[in-house]
Amino acid sequence: MKNTLKLIGIVSIIALHTSCGTKKVVTPDLKTITPEITHKGPKNIIFMIGDGMGLAQITAGMIYNDGPLNLERITEIGFHKSSSYDDLITDSAAGATAFACGIKTYNGAIGVDQDTIAAYTILEEAESRGLHTGLVATSTIVHATPASFIAHNRSRQNYEEIALDFLNSDIDFFAGGGRKFFNRRADGRDLYQELSQKGYVIKDFIDGDISTLSIDKTKKFGYLTADKDPLPAAQGRDYLRPVSKVAIDHLSNQKDGFFLMIEGSQIDWGGHSNQADYIISEVQDFDRVIGDVLDWAAKDGETLVVITADHETGGFAINKGSTRDTINAAFTSDYHTGVMIPVFAFGPGAEAFKGIYENTSIYDKMRKAFGWVNQQ
Ligand code: MG
Ligand code: ZN
Repeated sequence: MKNTLKLIGIVSIIALHTSCGTKKVVTPDLKTITPEITHKGPKNIIFMIGDGMGLAQITAGMIYNDGPLNLERITEIGFHKSSSYDDLITDSAAGATAFACGIKTYNGAIGVDQDTIAAYTILEEAESRGLHTGLVATSTIVHATPASFIAHNRSRQNYEEIALDFLNSDIDFFAGGGRKFFNRRADGRDLYQELSQKGYVIKDFIDGDISTLSIDKTKKFGYLTADKDPLPAAQGRDYLRPVSKVAIDHLSNQKDGFFLMIEGSQIDWGGHSNQADYIISEVQDFDRVIGDVLDWAAKDGETLVVITADHETGGFAINKGSTRDTINAAFTSDYHTGVMIPVFAFGPGAEAFKGIYENTSIYDKMRKAFGWVNQQ
């Protein structure tokens, strides 16, 4: 279906060109152009964001890991430039909006441009094109990174307003913390009930671990993993793997393809608090999910996996005196920094992520991979 639509689009452009051009244009034989315009890209995209995960964070995770990181399985690698519209140093809201909407906006903006006008997100576009969609995070689900894919708000701090935007979406699966923004709100609204009326099944950590729940894959599903922020992995948070597995299982159950964003949210928090241990345990937790996702994608063969960060956090360095057993960690900041960020891609379309480009190009590359952009 996708191929046919694309074919029609290109043919009409050629026709237009033919009628307007001054030179004689020979209409190409359809058979000869078909191989070039047939969409051979992925059916699904799993986009993974390690918030605050720069090269030093990855390296520290490698040093402390038993054996190589799963990330090291990937050979198609590029770098993005993370700056936002008004600041060389981005925050996570502008950083995620660049990925979600393909625009540079101001720090603090959630799915809106520099004039606070709502921008269409890749997740919303996927929904409207009939794909299934999901968001998974180890922060609250209304936190800047996941929020920028589904919500439109002038400020990342407006958590209750951001939660309301879940009602305006058709997202098929979401999981993360922040239950209180849904069912213990200042405005008294109960979003559990309102989402249920929209056909969602909403569960939370009180109902038990996700692996113990029987989930109807034909229904939209939300799972709130904590009342506020989920715990750090080092303090027992262990849901990212099982929840991501259930998410993929849920979304791949349908035949039209899916877009899923999975965030390792707290690598950033380890950077803000200048704690190497916190960074390392979060990188390793995220990397275990990367392993599961790569295994699944390799078997599936129709899934593009893109893994990156929004920015680096902490100006983290592995200083002189570090050994295989103990990192002599140093930090230049308790905030984000402006270094380039690695981008790892696997599966059909992965080679497009090589090179050095703006963070907004990741949006463009994902849309192109899906065949939503005509190649001119
Ligand atoms: Mg984040
Ligand atoms: Zn941060």
